Amino acid sequence: MRHYVSCVAVTAASILFAIRPGLAQTQPPEASRPPIETTKVEGTENVYIFRNGNHQSMFVVTKAGVIATDPIAYGRPTGGQTYVDEIRKVTSLPIKYLIYSHHHFDHIAGGKAFKDAGATIIAHRRVKERLAVIKDPFTVPPDETFEMKKIVKLGDTTLELLYLGRNHSDSNIVMRLPKEKLIFLVDIVPVGAMPGLGMIDMYPLEAEAFIERVIALDWERMIPGHPGLPGGRLGTKDDARKILVLMREASAEIKKLAREGKCWQPAEREFKMPQYASWPNYENGLPYIARRYCSLWGRGT
Ligand SMILES: [Zn+2]
Repeated sequence: MRHYVSCVAVTAASILFAIRPGLAQTQPPEASRPPIETTKVEGTENVYIFRNGNHQSMFVVTKAGVIATDPIAYGRPTGGQTYVDEIRKVTSLPIKYLIYSHHHFDHIAGGKAFKDAGATIIAHRRVKERLAVIKDPFTVPPDETFEMKKIVKLGDTTLELLYLGRNHSDSNIVMRLPKEKLIFLVDIVPVGAMPGLGMIDMYPLEAEAFIERVIALDWERMIPGHPGLPGGRLGTKDDARKILVLMREASAEIKKLAREGKCWQPAEREFKMPQYASWPNYENGLPYIARRYCSLWGRGT
């Protein structure tokens, strides 16, 4: 971020994000980085992060083929194919699976390239049900669904798909690599940034219980669906604990305002969390947080 203003290679897209960072849910992209990037996760032999703009997803290369996740190609018509091409730079083994983290199109649009490459698409049951209603032309429905837990085994890799209750959506799962002690968790725990746009359709009370369950799992590092701050870092249980505290503080404050009859206005205008003022996305995130908790405590939803 410190080079953000001085860098001459600022793209139109990054200017747009700089003006309206809420679009990216948590944070503006760092201007110095390339638009697309594939990196191996440090300390692993075969776990990679594919990043497209300010979205990212995990893929695992096993001896028997590839497990990919979230195509992240919303508004990027060739994004899914770009992702497949990036995998092809690492391995020529078949892409066996594509796993969706949840139903939001900014994370799962673009699956057709994977389907064409022969992948089986797996997601939580609610993903399939929601996609069946909306019929988004760029979002391919899953071939297989599960309810609470599914184990994907390929080569020497075991990947757990866990549904631990409603949270950021009613379809958002945790993907855990037990051997690597890694999880891929999207949108519910912004790493190093204030929550924002992602609050819109979340389940606030269930989300608190969900994060507690995530913290209770055995893992050390979290790959988030948007690059962690600073520097695209991975998340830790400490990041999850901090977001849980933030949610509880926001919830308690808005509950008070709601019971004074202040939702949505003037609560949305008045709501501040000065203890987080230094966090990226603070100013943009506040109204989303206020609006969601006002729905809960001032409306009952
Ligand atoms: Zn989402």
